Amino acid sequence: MLTKLTARLEQGAVIVAGTNGKTTTTRMIADVFELVPWRVVHNRSGSNLVRGVIAAFVQRASLTGCPGGEIAVIEADEAALPELVRRVRPRIILLNNLFRDQLDRYGELDTIGKTWRGVLKDLDAGTTVIVNGDDPALVAISDSLAAKRVCFGLDETTHRLDVLPHAADAAVCRVCGADLAYHALYVSHLGDWYCPNCGRKRPELTYTGSNIQLYGVESLALDISEGEGHSHHLTVGVPGLYNAYNALAAASVAREVGVPWELIGQAFDAFRSAFGRIERVQYKGRDLTLALVKNPTGFNEVLRMLTAETGGLALPTMIAINDLDADGRDVSWLWDVDFELLARGKGDLYTTGLRGPDMANRLKYAGVALDRIHSLPNELPAGLDAFVEAVPEGYAAYILPSYTAMLALRKTLADRGAVDAFWEQ
Ligand SMILES: [Zn+2]
Repeated sequence: MLTKLTARLEQGAVIVAGTNGKTTTTRMIADVFELVPWRVVHNRSGSNLVRGVIAAFVQRASLTGCPGGEIAVIEADEAALPELVRRVRPRIILLNNLFRDQLDRYGELDTIGKTWRGVLKDLDAGTTVIVNGDDPALVAISDSLAAKRVCFGLDETTHRLDVLPHAADAAVCRVCGADLAYHALYVSHLGDWYCPNCGRKRPELTYTGSNIQLYGVESLALDISEGEGHSHHLTVGVPGLYNAYNALAAASVAREVGVPWELIGQAFDAFRSAFGRIERVQYKGRDLTLALVKNPTGFNEVLRMLTAETGGLALPTMIAINDLDADGRDVSWLWDVDFELLARGKGDLYTTGLRGPDMANRLKYAGVALDRIHSLPNELPAGLDAFVEAVPEGYAAYILPSYTAMLALRKTLADRGAVDAFWEQ
């Protein structure tokens, strides 16, 4: 069914894969396409496994088998990508990044890389593979394909990391095994990389992001140049350097499909976070910003976002960590997060959730002064109450929950009338 329905799409299908930012990037692409205007088939509210994608198509299709749209944007789970590519025969595949995430589900990155490589090398020149050139692992996977490869990446002078973060993976040359070096490092292992031993380096970029401006937890702006052409200034209603990558990836896809820059700019300007990524809530006179933290790389980017402009943590912050199935049962990943960033600054840190004590312990070993660490009750409504009590009325504060902790906090806030119904369809 999936093969037949996708074959009937006038403008074909785009498949989006990557460990982080899939949902945001997929929504950005879909928003751009809707301005064309195309009707977009999109697994927006469903799962990103094969059955979820089929369900999204079935929901949109007519009884006679018309797909109900001109183009599809499909978010693919890492493990589902090979089967989706084989069944859908997409026009474009976007490979956004490959991070260590939920290793208990998929095993090593190398295994994912091998299965991806296996399906990519069977594609013909009718498919374009758009690759984050700043990710050395993705470049290795997509070398010498029959399909067309297009790379994007950053050329940024302001927002750089000095050293590889703890959580970084894949900083090894895939050809000779030597440690990679970087002319510039931006997020985790993503950057302008090269191998000092065999000379491999980041491929030439077709789409280059630069001059990134980060506006706290609100938004960002960047310039994107295409080939040798002049650059386009874009604003995006989502924060953080990782979203600059997502916007660059989405713009690359839109351009490869032929969408004018003007429409891309309009869609990005109107774009806002989906529930559960970054959200601001007014509650009992406090201005709370909630940011989901679900893996080391995402957590590091949130910590950078909260500390970059102020040189350390400025506001009171509650970290809520659960270890239910959807969070990952093993919380050792907290040791891969650079909580050392929080040792600077005066903001107090509060811990709650089923693994609140583990979190408090991690902060202690990160060098956070003990008088800044406060253990709240593990139970989330009680933890939230204690936190709000500790933040003076009229003040702003951050809440960083793991996935199920976010759901529980949202429910508590919704029950108390602080937020509207939150599931985005
Ligand atoms: Zn090498």
